[in-house]
Amino acid sequence: MRIDCHTHIFPQQLPPLARTTGDERWPAVKLNGDGSIDVMVQGSLYRRIAATAYVPSARLAEMDREQVDKHVLMATPITFAYWGDPKATLELCRFQNDFMAQFVAADPERFIGFATVPLQEPALAVEELTRARRELKLAGVELGATVRGLGLHRSELRPFFKAAMELDCPLFIHPLNEPWAWDERIKSWGMGLTNSMAMPHETAMSAGALLLSDLLVQYPDLRICLAHGGGSLAAVLPRMGHQWEMRRGRGEAVTGVHPMELARKLWVDNLTYDYEACTLCRARFGGMVLGTDYPFDGRRERPPGIMFDQALERGAIGSAEVEAIKQHQALRYLFGR
Ligand SMILES: [Zn+2]
Repeated sequence: MRIDCHTHIFPQQLPPLARTTGDERWPAVKLNGDGSIDVMVQGSLYRRIAATAYVPSARLAEMDREQVDKHVLMATPITFAYWGDPKATLELCRFQNDFMAQFVAADPERFIGFATVPLQEPALAVEELTRARRELKLAGVELGATVRGLGLHRSELRPFFKAAMELDCPLFIHPLNEPWAWDERIKSWGMGLTNSMAMPHETAMSAGALLLSDLLVQYPDLRICLAHGGGSLAAVLPRMGHQWEMRRGRGEAVTGVHPMELARKLWVDNLTYDYEACTLCRARFGGMVLGTDYPFDGRRERPPGIMFDQALERGAIGSAEVEAIKQHQALRYLFGR
């Protein structure tokens, strides 16, 4: 069985917040004649997305063709809108979470839905997470890597993480990709650097702060997966470890647990396009699952995890390890079993 733990959906319509608020950072959707949708942000085309983003039957047919059994479905990060008025963001979250529940209902055996929440207002985020888990029966929650430029480890977010742990809710940390937020070095290269470099660094910085904080010590049962192989985190973890050792020697470390040890509590997906990078990630993190960014053009592996099938054929990896990545680690991450 193959479980793709990192895919996205996009509803064919959204609440008209750009119009009602006059702020064009709110995404708007235009339906095209061929069934694709254009996501518009700040008056420009942000993404053109195939109908498989919002039509369950079309998605299931493609999943069959690509030999993938289950999709973990998540909102698209441009809709997180943590920058927005919390009540307006909550409206967008509720709309998307309701849409997600309907999507999952089309085939609950093959679709696993994650919620999105207004993380800039932790009390509202707890409220919507609770609704999504208890009423909509969504399995987990997707979080942007930063909230208004601040880290996820901050004290004001602790009630949210506490609620997630108590609701037995896995967390998926995904970088934001808001065009207005990148600096000029990144922006001038468009997707060439936003997607390939800025987003993976954003994830690494977010997770790095988690590993230096006491979040995972305070809430040891949290199950967290990082997008895109944890970004650049695997490569820089030893540097973080060195800094932590020096800080500890000076009595400045927040926790008594080495960040490389805490990293063993995290899962990452394999969305690095590189078997060697995945090998390093597997050495650094507790678990690896499959991830593709379906249906976006970040997707390359068809079927997901084919890099491990090929490695098995050349004797570089054992079949038990391949099955762990394709399904067993995903089940542990998603459902704690
Ligand atoms: Zn993604």
